[in-house]
Order: sequence, then C-alpha cells, then structure tokens
Amino acid sequence: MSSDDTPHFDTLCIHAGAQPDPTTGARATPIYQTTSFVFDDVDHAASLFGLQAFGNIYTRIMNPTQAVLEERIAALEGGTAALACASGHGAQLLIFHALMEPGDEFVAVGQLYGGSINQFNHSFKKFDWNVNWADATDLSTIEKAVTPKTKLIFIESIANPGGVVVDIAGISKIARAAGVPLVVDNTLATPYLCRPIEHGADIIVHSLTKFIGGHGNSMGGVIVDAGTFNWSREGRYPTLSEPCESYHGLKLHETFGPIAFAIACRVLGMRDLGPCISPMNAFLIIQGMETLSLRMKKHCENTMVVADWLNEHKDVAWVSYAGLPGDRHNKLAQKYCPQGAGAVFTFGLRGGYEAGVKVVSNVEMISHLANIGDVRTLIIHPSSTTHRQLSEHQQIAAGAGPDVLRLSIGLEDPSDIIKDLEQALASAV
Ligand SMILES: *Cc1c(COP(=O)(O)O)cnc(C)c1O
Repeated sequence: MSSDDTPHFDTLCIHAGAQPDPTTGARATPIYQTTSFVFDDVDHAASLFGLQAFGNIYTRIMNPTQAVLEERIAALEGGTAALACASGHGAQLLIFHALMEPGDEFVAVGQLYGGSINQFNHSFKKFDWNVNWADATDLSTIEKAVTPKTKLIFIESIANPGGVVVDIAGISKIARAAGVPLVVDNTLATPYLCRPIEHGADIIVHSLTKFIGGHGNSMGGVIVDAGTFNWSREGRYPTLSEPCESYHGLKLHETFGPIAFAIACRVLGMRDLGPCISPMNAFLIIQGMETLSLRMKKHCENTMVVADWLNEHKDVAWVSYAGLPGDRHNKLAQKYCPQGAGAVFTFGLRGGYEAGVKVVSNVEMISHLANIGDVRTLIIHPSSTTHRQLSEHQQIAAGAGPDVLRLSIGLEDPSDIIKDLEQALASAV
C-alpha cells in the first residue's frame, strides 16, 4: 500500500494520527476523559457549530483520543477519514442512516455475522430500510437482487462464522454498474490481512471489539470513508448532495468532497442518534492497534496449526478454514488475504449436537463464550446458543448446523490449545 514516502503498515499501526501531547509532552495518547471543550471566544464557537472550522465541541461529536483512533484506522485502511462509534452495530446504523431513505432497499449477502442479519431483518425494517438477500458465493444472485431502489451493497471480507472469503473486486464491479457504494465489514480480516478499498470498496466498517482492540475488553466500532464515491450523481443520496436544513443549507458533498461521507455520519448520524465511543475505550483500542501486525501474524500461524490438527482428528467430520490448501475458499483467500485467512473457523463433529455440547462443557483453558478476536482462544456451539432460535434447516443454511463448533484461536502456545481440544474431544465420545 505504501508509495515511497508513506510509512509502512507496521509503522502506521504505531504512529498514524498521534503526536506527543502538545501541552504535557505525554508520549502515549492521553485519555481525554472530558465531555466538553472550552471555546476560544464567541466567533470560534460560532464557526465550530456552523462547520466552517473543525474542532472539539462535545465528546459525542469529537474528542482528541477518538481522533487518534480515527486517523490511525483511516491510514491502515487507505481511506480519507473515519468515525469511531460505540460498537460495530452502532457504526452500521450510522452508515445506513446517511444513505437510506424510508422505502429504500439494499442488498446484503447471507454470509454475515448473525447480529447483522438480525439488525437488517428486524430493526432496519422499522425504518423501512428493506434488505434483499443474496449469496456471496454466487455473484449472479447479487446482480439479480439489485433494484432501482437499491442504495448500497453490504458484505463481509472474511465472513463469520464459516470463514467464507468473499470476491470483493467482483462484487465491487456489480456495485459500480448499479451506481451504489460497496460497504465491506472488514472485522474478521482487519486491514493487516485485507484492505478492501484496494479492491473497490467504498466504505469500510469494523467491530473494533474484535481483533483490532484484540484483548476482549472494550466495545467499539468504526466507519472508514474511501473518498471514492460520487454522492451527487442523480441526487440519489440526498443527505449528502442536497442542502442540509440543520446546517443553513450547506451541501455536504459539495463542501467536503472526499470526506463528505465520514462528515455526514458524524455531524448528522452521530449528532442525532448518539452511539459515541468513550475516550477510555478509544484508548484501549489504540493500545490494541499498536500490536495489530504481531497479533494477526500469530493468530494466523496458530490457526493453521490447530486447523491442520483438527483436520486429521478421527472424531472431526470436516474443517472449514480458508487457510487450508484444499478448502473451497482457499483460492479467494490467496487473492484477498495472502498473509493468512484469519483466526475464526468452524468444524463439524461426527457425534453431532450431543458431542458439540460436551466439547464446550469440557474445555478448560479455552473459554465458552459469544465473542471472537481475543488474545484468548474462544469456542462456541452455535446451534445451542447464537443460532438456537433458528430451525435446523436455517441453522444448516447459516453454516451453524447441530454438529458445528466455532473457534476463535488466540495467542497461547498452539500445543496448549491442541491439548485442551484433545481432552475435550476425548471426553465427548
Ligand atoms: C461483532 C461483529 C459485529 C458487531 O460488532 P459489535 O462491536 O459487537 O457491535 C459486526 N460484524 C462482525 C463481523 C462482527 O464480528
């Protein structure tokens, strides 16, 4: 991603967006634990409120600790600007709020985080934002799902839970032809493994709660603006192209150009809906970002070792990990995530539902819980937890049938992860 004069990825993880604190010299980014900021004078206050000048007003809208997080993730993804949010789901809400009007439609693929499927099917319906589902593994279904009312296409780069790697460039072509932006949830890959903007994505969203924070201690989300999309064409995105009543008729795209989308999410969505991140959580996520490269490398190495071992195990029927040479997604993984296919994957037990319940009950070091992207190894049996409200048929379609276990491999010594899985599998038969 670097031209000769831009720092390389590992350097950006540590330095992008941060300088020593101008008043104290503090080298680490301070936690600006304050709700509000004193104005220089009345004119300064007026220019901040009128968007004639950028500056801190109130932590819901902007805060210096959040700003470091935002600049850093924008640099890592190769975007123009970013907005940090309270959670990944909060970030998704603000993206849709900027682009959708009541009665509009969007296309999403079925290979998504279960929480996103719920958000789209139920809560977004209440805003009259209507989803048309497609299949990420068959691009013709995406093309067919597009209608004149479609305002965006939503995919994940590596899809939770089955580790499906999605053809971002192929789907970007469909989005371009339809004149709509491609939104990519890059949570499982992180920009260390995949930078979707380089493959034609227009907007990136992350749950920072997972690998970017990386330590299982803070909720966060972020929106990254690629700066590439023409929001003014045909007036299809009125929030961005039309005069904005709450800013004296300002037109956001005309005024802010390549950062207009990120600005709209901040000065309208965040202002009015309010899912802001706390300065403390922003600080903890910045800490995580500083070791992102080291952690993702080790996450992927450990995952290959564990997936290989499970693949040979007599009680394991199948392993779905795009990093394995024979996997059906391995070719796309080599194209989009050449440094590794991430650390989340599923496998199936010959013993079915009963065996799955026993394995999650019998692990000792590995934690049985509903999260991914922690330094600790995590396991879940989706059909008895996250997917239990679905019929068996729906569970299988979602890659979460009764025999399926999902692992998020941590940073422990891989032989200790295997030892724990070995005893848990032995006790399940
Ligand atoms: C966890 C997750 C989300 C939701 O993020 P929160 O921070 O939990 O709101 C969205 N997408 C993916 C892929 C996730 O793993």
